[in-house]
Amino acid sequence: MERSALRQLPSVDRLLRRLEADGVLARYPRALVVACARDAVERARQRLREDPAAQDVRLDALAADVEGHLRLRTQPSLDRAINATGVVIHTNLGRAPLSASARAAVMEAAGYAVLELDRPTGKRGSRQVHCSGLLRELTGAEAALVVNNNAAAVLLALTALARGKEVVVSRGELVEIGGSFRMPDVMAESGCRLVEVGTTNKTYLRDYEAALTPDTALLLKVHRSNFVLRGFVHEVPLADLVALGRRRGIPVLYDMGSGAFVDLALKGLPREPTVQEAVAAGVDLLTFSGDKLLGGPQAGILLGRDDLVRRIRTHPLARAVRIDKLDLAALEATLKAYRDPERVWEEVPVLRMLSQTVAALEEAARTLARRVAPALAGAASVEVWDTTSEAGGGALPGAELPSFAVAIRPHRERVEVWEHRLRQHRPPVIARIQDGQLLLDVRTLQAEDWDPLVAALSAASAPREDG
Ligand SMILES: *Cc1c(COP(=O)(O)O)cnc(C)c1O
Repeated sequence: MERSALRQLPSVDRLLRRLEADGVLARYPRALVVACARDAVERARQRLREDPAAQDVRLDALAADVEGHLRLRTQPSLDRAINATGVVIHTNLGRAPLSASARAAVMEAAGYAVLELDRPTGKRGSRQVHCSGLLRELTGAEAALVVNNNAAAVLLALTALARGKEVVVSRGELVEIGGSFRMPDVMAESGCRLVEVGTTNKTYLRDYEAALTPDTALLLKVHRSNFVLRGFVHEVPLADLVALGRRRGIPVLYDMGSGAFVDLALKGLPREPTVQEAVAAGVDLLTFSGDKLLGGPQAGILLGRDDLVRRIRTHPLARAVRIDKLDLAALEATLKAYRDPERVWEEVPVLRMLSQTVAALEEAARTLARRVAPALAGAASVEVWDTTSEAGGGALPGAELPSFAVAIRPHRERVEVWEHRLRQHRPPVIARIQDGQLLLDVRTLQAEDWDPLVAALSAASAPREDG
C-alpha cells in the first residue's frame, strides 16, 4: 500500500520540466532550482510514508513548494528591520541606524574611492586622514586613530603599550560587555598582566598608588556601560587618576565604551561622561565605539597623546584591525554632523530618538494607533499605552526613558503568534510583549517605517495558508 502511494509522486525530472514551463528556471540559478526540487520531492516522500493519503504531493503542490523555498533562499539574510522595541542602540538590530548623510556617503564610497591616495602627490596615503583631523577638531585631542571596533581598539592599545607589563584596574570595572567581551580576557589576550585593585564596590586613589611598580605600563579605567553600582560605593574621579599618572609618569587609558560627543543632560536625559570632558581632563588615551551614542557605523576610535597614538598606529596588529572604507565614509559624515551642535540632535538618528519629548511620543503613538486600528478592525484591540524605553548598547545603564507605545491584543489568537509572524514578515517587525499585549514603542520607529508596519500588521492578522 505504501508502494502504490509512493508511485503517484512525480519524479524530480518531471517537476523540473514543470518548473521550466512555469518560467522558474529562467528566474533562478539552475543548480539552486534542482536542489530545491530534490528537497521538495524528498519532503513529499516523507509525508507519504507517514500518511499514504497525503494530498499535497501532486505536481502543482510540489511546484508551489519549490517556488516558496526559492523565494526564501534568495531573499537577503541580512534584511532591514523595523525596530519597535524602544531600545535605541539595539545590538541585535545593528546598533545605531545611520543618518541620511552617512548613508549617502556609504553609497559614494562603495565604488572606487580615494581611500589611501594622497591626492596632491598621487602617492600612497593613509586611510586615517579622512577622520583624524575631524576627530581632533571636535574633541581637542592631540591625535586620533580609527579601527574596526572598540574591542579591537582596547586590545590594540593594551598590546602596543603594555605587552609583558602590568596594567592596574579597579575590581569594580572588570566588566563583561555583551558578546563575550570580558575585560580580564582581553587583557590576557594582549599579553599584559592584570593588577586588580580595590574591591567590587570601593576603590580609592591609594589603592592604585600602592599597586604601582617599575613594571606598571598603564592605569586603566573602564566605563561601566551596562550596569550601575548603587549604595556604598566609591570610585576615583578621572582627574585624580590622571594626576597620579602624571606624578608617576604612567599613562592613563580610559575605555569609555559609549563615547558621547554631546551632553545628554541638555535634553533632560541622564548624564554620560562626554569625550570632550575626558580629553580636557588630560587622559592620555581614550577609546570608544562609533556605533553607540555617537550614532555612527561600527568603529573603534582612539584619541590621545601623539606619541602613544603613533606607537599604536605602527604596531603590526593595527593592520589586522583596520577599518574598511564603507565604515570610514559613514564615520566621516557622522562626525561632520557634530560641527553644528544644534542640528546634530535632528540629524543623527540616535540623538533624535533619545531626545524626543514625551509629548511628541504620545502624539506619534496616537497618530499611529489611528492608522493601525482600521487595518486590524475586528481582529484585535488597539490602544495607546505609556511605557519605558532604553538607550541600550552600553549607554545610560539603568535609565528608563518614559515613552509611548501602540498596544495590540489579538481577539482570537495568542499574542505570541502575532509577535512571531511579525518577526517572520518582510521587512521583519521586532516588537515586545508585555501584559498580554504586543507593544510597538514609537521612540524607535522612523517615519518611513509606518507604511510597512501597518502592512505587516494586517498580514499578521490575516495570514495566508502558506504564510
Ligand atoms: C561596548 C563596549 C566595548 C566594546 O565595543 P565594540 O565597539 O562593541 O567592540 C568595550 N568596552 C566598553 C566599556 C563598552 O561599553
